[in-house]
Amino acid sequence: MMDRLLVKRQQPASPPSPQQPPPIGSDWALFLDLDGTLLDLAPTPTSVEVPPGLIDVLRRLSARLGGALAIVTGRPLEDIDRLLAPLRLPVAGNHGASARLPDGTTRALAEFAPLPPEWLPHAEEACATWPGVIVEPKPYSIALHYRQAPEREFDILALARELVGGHPDYEILKAHYAYEVRPQQATKGLAIERLMELAPFRGRIPVFVGDDETDESARAAARQLGGIGLDVAPSFGGSAGRVRQWLASAVAGDGA
Ligand SMILES: [Mg+2]
Repeated sequence: MMDRLLVKRQQPASPPSPQQPPPIGSDWALFLDLDGTLLDLAPTPTSVEVPPGLIDVLRRLSARLGGALAIVTGRPLEDIDRLLAPLRLPVAGNHGASARLPDGTTRALAEFAPLPPEWLPHAEEACATWPGVIVEPKPYSIALHYRQAPEREFDILALARELVGGHPDYEILKAHYAYEVRPQQATKGLAIERLMELAPFRGRIPVFVGDDETDESARAAARQLGGIGLDVAPSFGGSAGRVRQWLASAVAGDGA
């Protein structure tokens, strides 16, 4: 009892210092979010830029990890392939709803009912009167972006609540200047659990890096499986550029 009290008193009163990202291990299975983690955030999902050199770093890192490098994103798979071309990494897209596996096959990671068909026209009609608001339809969800109309946040949230209200299988996910209505089971955490069952990820230490609230399930899944869940804000000062430096330093000196 005495020892426990003593230990308790020695704990710092202030929050722990920011987490330092450890050097990338060759025995890791590395799962990376895209927007805000690998790429700087942009005003719209279509206006992101892929910095020179990033694709080469990812290619070399994938080789160093025996192919155990995957993108885990809210975007659809086609977006990732377009942005990272000619590289084609394993990808879990749409927040884990669908994936391209290491063997190149594409499949859903869980069974989801299609969205109620009236949701998209209803959302488009409501948002048509709000300049700057973008409605992004996805296979299993709808994202409502208000980065260019931040004053509309509460209107967007009310709309999302109106859509999801009374549908126990759906939830509202808050992202950077966006709300997304989506099936509850579709999470990045689920994607990591499923990918970790497959070679070349299986048996490695899962490490996930993401910048958003939508990434918490993935950080938790990585930790649950004995790995590490990193948040871009505390571990990289909120800078995608620092994440890229961290990745590049792991392959510095490797042959191209
Ligand atoms: Mg992100």
